[in-house]
Amino acid sequence: MSPTRGPATLQFLGAAGSVTGSRYLLSAGDQCVLVDCGLFQEPELEAHNTEPLSVAPDQIDAVVLTHAHIDHSGYLPRLVRDGFRGPVWCTPATRALVEIMWRDIAQIAAADASLRGQRGHTRRVEAKPPIYTMGDVERALLLIKTAEYGSTTRLTRGFNFTFRDAGHILGAATVTFEWGAPREHIRLLFSGDLGRPHRPILHDPAPPPVVEYAVVESTYGNRTHPTGDIEGQLASIITETVERGGNVVIPSFAVQRAQEILYHLRRLSDAGRIPSIPVFLDSPMAAAVTAVFPRFAALLDRELAEAFARGDSPFDFPALTITQAPEESRQINDVRRPHIVIAGSGMCDGGRVQHHLLHNAGRPTSTVLFTGFQAPGTLGRRIVEGAPEIELFGETVHVRARIEQIKEFSAHAGSDEIVDWVRSIPNRPRRLFVTHGTPEAAETLRGRLVAAMECDAYTPVFGETVEL
Ligand SMILES: [Zn+2]
Ligand SMILES: [Zn+2]
Repeated sequence: MSPTRGPATLQFLGAAGSVTGSRYLLSAGDQCVLVDCGLFQEPELEAHNTEPLSVAPDQIDAVVLTHAHIDHSGYLPRLVRDGFRGPVWCTPATRALVEIMWRDIAQIAAADASLRGQRGHTRRVEAKPPIYTMGDVERALLLIKTAEYGSTTRLTRGFNFTFRDAGHILGAATVTFEWGAPREHIRLLFSGDLGRPHRPILHDPAPPPVVEYAVVESTYGNRTHPTGDIEGQLASIITETVERGGNVVIPSFAVQRAQEILYHLRRLSDAGRIPSIPVFLDSPMAAAVTAVFPRFAALLDRELAEAFARGDSPFDFPALTITQAPEESRQINDVRRPHIVIAGSGMCDGGRVQHHLLHNAGRPTSTVLFTGFQAPGTLGRRIVEGAPEIELFGETVHVRARIEQIKEFSAHAGSDEIVDWVRSIPNRPRRLFVTHGTPEAAETLRGRLVAAMECDAYTPVFGETVEL
C-alpha cells in the first residue's frame, strides 16, 4: 500500500452501540489493520454479517484478533472468502480455539443450507445462505500467525503490537499498538474483552501499559457482579434435585463456561459435597475445547497447571462421561437414576440441550440450571423469565422443572473491575473510547471513566471514524 501521510484514524465497524460484531479499522503510517473480526449476534444486526466492510478486504494489511469468541473472530473466514490475504495475528491458544469455532460455524451453515434445500421445512427455509464454507475456514487458518503474551511483534518498520493477558477466556489478549517517530510516538490499547481478577482457572488481567488512547469494553459497564459462593449454590441445587429423584440440565457455552462448571463439579465431587451421580458432558465442541486446555497449562492458575503436569485433568473425575456420537447423546435419556447433563447451546437456541430439555423441562423433579447470560429472544431467556410452556421439535412442553440460575459466573469484568483496570494505566491518556456494550452500559461506564481518569472519554457510533 502507498503510505498515508495524514493523521492516524480509527474506524468503529462494530461493537459500537452494540455488544457484538467487534471490528476496528486502524490506519496509521502505511498500515491498515483490522482489530478483531467478529460476527454480529444481535438478531437486528445480523445483516452486517454478510455485508461488505467499508474497506476492500485486499486493502487490509493485517488482522489482529484479541480472542476466539465469535463476536471477535467469527467473520474472518468471510473476509478471506472476500479477498483478504494478509496475516492474521493471535495468541497460540486463540489459534487452537478459532479452529474449533470456525469449523463449527461452517458445519452449522452447511447443515442449514442443506435443510433449506429440502422441501416441507418452514422455519429454516428462510435461513441465510451459508456465511462461509469449510474451504474458507481452511484458507483462513493458513493465514494465522501467533504471538505470545508480552512479546512485541513488528508489523512494519515503526509499527508494532503487543498482546497481554486479558484474563477473559483461554488465550484472550489485550492488544497495544505503537507507531510513529520517537517524538510523535502513539500507543493505542484495545481491552478486547476484559476478564475478572481473583477468579479460578485463568490468570488475572495483566495491567495496562502507558498509552495515549484506549478502546475499552463495557459489557457490564453499568453493573457489578454478585459475589455469592458458586460451589455452595451448585452443591445445594444438585443435592436437592437428586433428593427429588430428578436430573440437572445445565445449558452451557462450550468455551470456558463448560470447563468452569467441570472444574467446580470436580472440586465438589472430591470434597464429597455432591452425591455421586453420573455427569455427562454432551457437547463435542465443549469436549474439543476442554482438550485444548492442557496444551496451554502455563496460561492457567498454578493449581491447574500443576494438576495437568501430574497428568491429572482438573476438568475430569470418575463420574464424568464425555459423549460424542448422537446415539450416545440419546442414550443419556435412558439413564434412570439422577444425573447431570451439561450441553450446548448456552442459550438453548439449538444443539443437544434441546433434547435434554424435551425430556426434563416437563418433570417437576428435574432442574434446569442456567449459568450464563440469556439474550432477549432466546429460548433460554423465555425459560428464565418463567414461560409456562415452551416449543421443542414441534411439541409443546409445559415447564414443571425447577428453573435455577447461578449469576456469579461471568467472563467479563464488572463495572468496578473495568474502572479499576483502566485506573491502573500509569499515565493520563488523551482519550478513551467506550465500546462493546448497550448504549446505557457504555454511557454509564463513560461517565465513570471521565471521573476516574480526568480525561476525555467518548462513545463512538457504528461506522464513525476518529482521528488519533
Ligand atoms: Zn469474549
Ligand atoms: Zn465480546
